[in-house]
Amino acid sequence: MIITRPKSVDDILTMLDQFPDANICVVGCGICARKAETGGEPQVRKMVEALKCRGVDVLDGVMVKHACSASSWESLAEENPAIDNADIVLVMSCGAGVSLLGRISDKPVLSALDTTSLGGAFTNETLEALCGMCGECNVGMFAGLCPKSSCPKSQMNGPCGGLDDGKCEVGERDCIWVKIYETLEARGLLSLLDEIRQPVSHNRRL
Ligand code: SF4
Ligand code: SF4
Repeated sequence: MIITRPKSVDDILTMLDQFPDANICVVGCGICARKAETGGEPQVRKMVEALKCRGVDVLDGVMVKHACSASSWESLAEENPAIDNADIVLVMSCGAGVSLLGRISDKPVLSALDTTSLGGAFTNETLEALCGMCGECNVGMFAGLCPKSSCPKSQMNGPCGGLDDGKCEVGERDCIWVKIYETLEARGLLSLLDEIRQPVSHNRRL
């Protein structure tokens, strides 16, 4: 599941300023953004209202099954004529959905959300930053707690000097390395930390 967070209405209006007098269609995504409650039906309705209140000409707010997968623009337009009629499409999905629609459309397609990580859903909780898509997965060596995606410095061999009483020096978060250590210790697998791991190779992402 791709994790997204909403842009502020002010940020969206700043983007829309580039297209004076354009009307728009707001599009939600029925998979990840719906699950994350950033681009489902209620959020689309709320966005439509918020933009109308700020004077934007909104034709409609619609949902597509999955913004990142479409057979053609024509089939999308047939199901949702407002998408085709609008001057601009404002998409409440991850960047993949916005990119796809931007490539197959002949009009500007803008993002209403910021995409932050690959995550998951467990019971009612949304789990963020489970994976940073590094292209070289060895998360199993870290008890399923990926330091590449959960540590701001992608520390591969233990915590940095910024660790303070279990807390990370960056933002309001626990240091992932404390959790990795505790989990491996509880499983009797601390020996997995004996090997020196190579730093993240960004070449593998290409
Ligand atoms: S090791 Fe790489 S691919 Fe595997 S979970 Fe971490 S960031 Fe994702
Ligand atoms: S305190 Fe822990 S999570 Fe934060 S940057 Fe250092 S190693 Fe990474």
